Amino acid sequence: MSSPIPSTPLPGGGTIPIYGLGTWFMGEDARRRAGEVAALRLGFDLGVTLVDTAEMYGSGRAEEIVGEAIAGRRDGLFIVSKVLPENATRRGTVAACERSLKRMRTDRIDLYLLHWRGSPPLAETLEGFAALRRDGKIGAWGVSNFDTADMHELERLDGGCASNQVLYNLTRRGIEYDLLPWCRRRRIPIMAYSPIEQGRMLSHPTLAMVAARHEATPAQVALAWLLRQKDVVVIPKAADPDHVRENRAALGLRLTADDLAALDQAFPAPKRKQPLAML
Ligand code: NAP
Repeated sequence: MSSPIPSTPLPGGGTIPIYGLGTWFMGEDARRRAGEVAALRLGFDLGVTLVDTAEMYGSGRAEEIVGEAIAGRRDGLFIVSKVLPENATRRGTVAACERSLKRMRTDRIDLYLLHWRGSPPLAETLEGFAALRRDGKIGAWGVSNFDTADMHELERLDGGCASNQVLYNLTRRGIEYDLLPWCRRRRIPIMAYSPIEQGRMLSHPTLAMVAARHEATPAQVALAWLLRQKDVVVIPKAADPDHVRENRAALGLRLTADDLAALDQAFPAPKRKQPLAML
């Protein structure tokens, strides 16, 4: 059995596992539903406890799949979901969360994020999050796709943000210039989404070369590169059971200084501010 998955502290108390299961594109085809539920359950069987979803995914059907996968095993899991910006008024945030809870057949979301910035004033969304916390419907709140200037604005309103979920992988290192250090100084963990760039980076020759050194796969190298940072939460999505197993095993892969140097050369760190990219 592989070793347990480490956690990293959340700024307001408690911890979040540094590895979890993504669910974007789940729930979009009824014929794939049983396989998607099985993939999440396989992840849980392999010791993964974090699952990342959103009301947006499959227009709610990804959350239903999460609900089916967690049935009878909710204890010990860490569920992340997200409110769409168009719903993120004070009352809309509360109502959206209640719909998400119903779809997942649970009474609590551990971390609830604003999916990206929209037109409702941030202060209103924060009031919604505060009400949900008071009622015990969410554990912590955070944001997603917030660049450094957005984080500054958020901090002026409320210092309680628990996480910022952003696009981060070897081919998307822009956040290392300012956003990642800014969050680190405040002990706000980044959640790295699309950690293998939805598969598009996997044929890169340097990834293949480093993978060959370890008898690993390019996806495992890409994940291990993120996971070596102990405060970055990595959430690959996999519906294929072989991918679920392969990705989970990336937690055991230790990259060497030579590997990291080769990866830095192939995927250079940013030298100046880059606007946050989003998928
Ligand atoms: P990803 O995890 O980088 O890639 C998922 C794709 O890669 C799927 O097509 C999957 O195929 C394939 N894959 C997975 N493991 C593989 C492996 N070992 N070898 C080869 N292919 C593999 O992309 P993502 O789904 O965009 O990002 C992950 C999660 O982050 C999402 O599911 C979602 O929960 C979250 N996210 C959040 C935001 C946001 O705005 N907050 C945006 C994007 C994503 P199979 O499914 O067939 O296994």
